[in-house]
Amino acid sequence: MGARPHVVVAGAGPAGAALAYLLARRDFRVTLIERQTDFAREFRGEILMPSGIDALRQMGLGPAFDALPQARPQAIDFHVHGRFVQRFAFPDFMEDTPRMVSQPRMLEMLVAQGAACESFRFVRGGSVADLIEEGGRSVGVRLRGDAPEEIRADLVVGCDGRGSVVRRRAGLDEPRNPESFDVIWFKVPLPPQIEPGGAVQAFLRPGQLCLAFPTFDERLQVAWLIRKGSYGDLRERGTDAWLADIAVQTGPEIGAHLIRHRDALESPFVLDVVCYLLERWTAPGVLLIGDACHPMSPVGGQGLNIALRDALVAANHLVPVLEAGAAPDALDAACAAVQAERFPEVAEVERYQRMPPRVVFRTDWWVGAVLWLAAGLARLGFPRSRVRLPAITRTFLHGVTDVRLQV
Ligand SMILES: Cc1cc2nc3c(=O)[nH]c(=O)nc-3n(C[C@H](O)[C@H](O)[C@H](O)COP(=O)(O)OP(=O)(O)OC[C@H]3O[C@@H](n4cnc5c(N)ncnc54)[C@H](O)[C@@H]3O)c2cc1C
Repeated sequence: MGARPHVVVAGAGPAGAALAYLLARRDFRVTLIERQTDFAREFRGEILMPSGIDALRQMGLGPAFDALPQARPQAIDFHVHGRFVQRFAFPDFMEDTPRMVSQPRMLEMLVAQGAACESFRFVRGGSVADLIEEGGRSVGVRLRGDAPEEIRADLVVGCDGRGSVVRRRAGLDEPRNPESFDVIWFKVPLPPQIEPGGAVQAFLRPGQLCLAFPTFDERLQVAWLIRKGSYGDLRERGTDAWLADIAVQTGPEIGAHLIRHRDALESPFVLDVVCYLLERWTAPGVLLIGDACHPMSPVGGQGLNIALRDALVAANHLVPVLEAGAAPDALDAACAAVQAERFPEVAEVERYQRMPPRVVFRTDWWVGAVLWLAAGLARLGFPRSRVRLPAITRTFLHGVTDVRLQV
């Protein structure tokens, strides 16, 4: 019998680490290549939705996932003009609610599951620089370095994120439209008025939105949405000035806490938000999944979940073809089938992701009026008991399509 087919997976984010594990446990040879030596060096958000948790459970990783450091917020508190107006609890019937999970620990867990399989190789600190082309087909990757290593494979899966090298080298890059906002992220100690693992805090004012999440490590992760490109002005005004802006939005208590911990701001950084969807995710010998083909906005905490769901669907289509000997045409057809199955969900989720910023950055008088009205009605308890979860919430929590692991 010949050697088992070999798949190179570039990038060990959630998409790559999950797919590599799913293929390795079926005894296919898998080489997973990750440029970072430490997963903590790449901040990729910490919110996992029920759809992503379900994907991990389907992979048989429920217990390993539950054992990771995590916080389970049970509600979202809304504040308008710095005043608390209403708490929305996640419905009791939900088996899994969103969780704040340590991403470095989650990725280490996925890689460890892969490493338990004999056919799995992990190249930590290796950076994919190019594709090896033969006869119009990619047949492997070249790693960057003084003595560049070549790794040959039946298929290259680009899971190397929003700045994907595989995408570029496979000629799949496309022009895209910029988003309207960026996000400033930082962590501070948890303020005393927010309990560990307690409710997510959403602070709204016309034209502004700031979110604060109690994290798995009992800190407060703050995400402040700003107009795209406006960080230069903020930086010029200085950290004290923009912290004071956030303090106006969050109200006096949390505001004073943020200012008090000004020096303890952990890794504040500005996320240049991009959100788009490639028309083509495949080239001969190449498949892209995750952010490599659909970089996601942080709105609704979707990217990690969509990446895990991509991995499940990719495994469903690839395993039978790899099992049958990995004929190039059959592999390319399987890759096209992955795109065909995943495209509608990603398109729908990204459509929803674009909605909140459009409303948030409006400063028209009626936006202020609607916020006050909504706050007043919410205080009266209207009409919470009568409404179903709106479509946008259902989509963000559970996804759009039914994704089942079949292999
Ligand atoms: C600040 C921020 C906050 C976010 N918050 C959330 C959230 O709360 N919830 C949520 O669901 N989503 C969130 N997202 C989106 C989410 O992080 C991404 O959608 C998700 O990580 C995509 O997974 P991926 O595996 O496709 O790519 P990534 O997670 O980006 O992983 C790509 C991996 O490839 C590696 N890599 C890159 N280039 C190479 C190369 N040439 N060779 C080898 N390796 C390479 C990278 O080091 C990285 O580990 C956030 C994103 C950011 C940036």
